[in-house]
Amino acid sequence: MKNIILIAPPGAGKGTQANMLEEKLNMLHISIGDLLRNEVNKKTELGKSLEVRMQTGKLVDDEIIFEVLKTYLKNVDLSHGIIFDGFPRNINQAIMLDSLDIKIDSAIYLDVPKSVLESRILGRQTCPKCNTGYNSNFTNMKPKIENICDKCGSELTVRHDDTKEVFEKRYETYINETQPVLEFYKNKKILFNINSLDKEEIFNIIIKIIDNTLPVEGI
Ligand code: AMP
Repeated sequence: MKNIILIAPPGAGKGTQANMLEEKLNMLHISIGDLLRNEVNKKTELGKSLEVRMQTGKLVDDEIIFEVLKTYLKNVDLSHGIIFDGFPRNINQAIMLDSLDIKIDSAIYLDVPKSVLESRILGRQTCPKCNTGYNSNFTNMKPKIENICDKCGSELTVRHDDTKEVFEKRYETYINETQPVLEFYKNKKILFNINSLDKEEIFNIIIKIIDNTLPVEGI
C-alpha cells in the first residue's frame, strides 16, 4: 500500500479527503491536529500548553510533534498505507519524516484560494461523535437541522481556532513555514498539485495518484 502526505492551507479539505480515503481504502489517517486536540481534551499539563499555543495559530514545537507522532506510530497498523494530514508542516519535520522507516510515495498539494478557505473555516462544524463535517456557509453542506448531525443526531461543535483572527495567523504560518515543504517534495519528484474545489473530483484525482495512473508532475 501507499503512504501519502496531504499538504494544504487551513480549510483546504485535507481532513475531508483523508476521512474519505480512510473509509474507502482502509488507509490509516494520521491527523496531527486531532492527536493534539485529544491531548488538549485530556486536560493534562501538556494539553493545557498545547491549547494556548494552538489558539495563537502558530505551530507547536517540533520536539512535541515528533514525540506525539512516534508514540502514536508504535501502536497502529501501518500495513494498509498512511495518509499524513497536517504533517510535515515545516522543512525540519519533512527531514524528520525522512529519517523514519516510512517511504513516502506522493505528496499532494491542495491549492485553494484564500477567500474560499476563509468562508469554509468560518462556517465549519463537526460532529464530535461520528466525525462528520458540515459547513453553515454552504447551502449544500449545512446540516438538515441547525447544529445537529444528520447521521447520529449529536450536537455539532466548532473548533476553538476557527475564528477570523486565528485563521489569519494560521494562514500566515502556512505561507511562511509550510509552503516551502512543497519545494522539498518537488525536488524529490513526488509532488502533485490539485487545484479543483470539488471534493469528489479531488478524491478521484487522489485515487489515480495512489494507483499510479497519473504521471508525476511538479508545480
Ligand atoms: P490542524 O488540525 O491540522 O488544522 O492543526 C491545528 C493546529 O495544531 C495548528 O494550527 C497547529 O497549532 C497545530 N499543529 C497541527 N499539526 C502540526 C504540525 N505538524 N506541527 C506543528 N503544529 C501542528
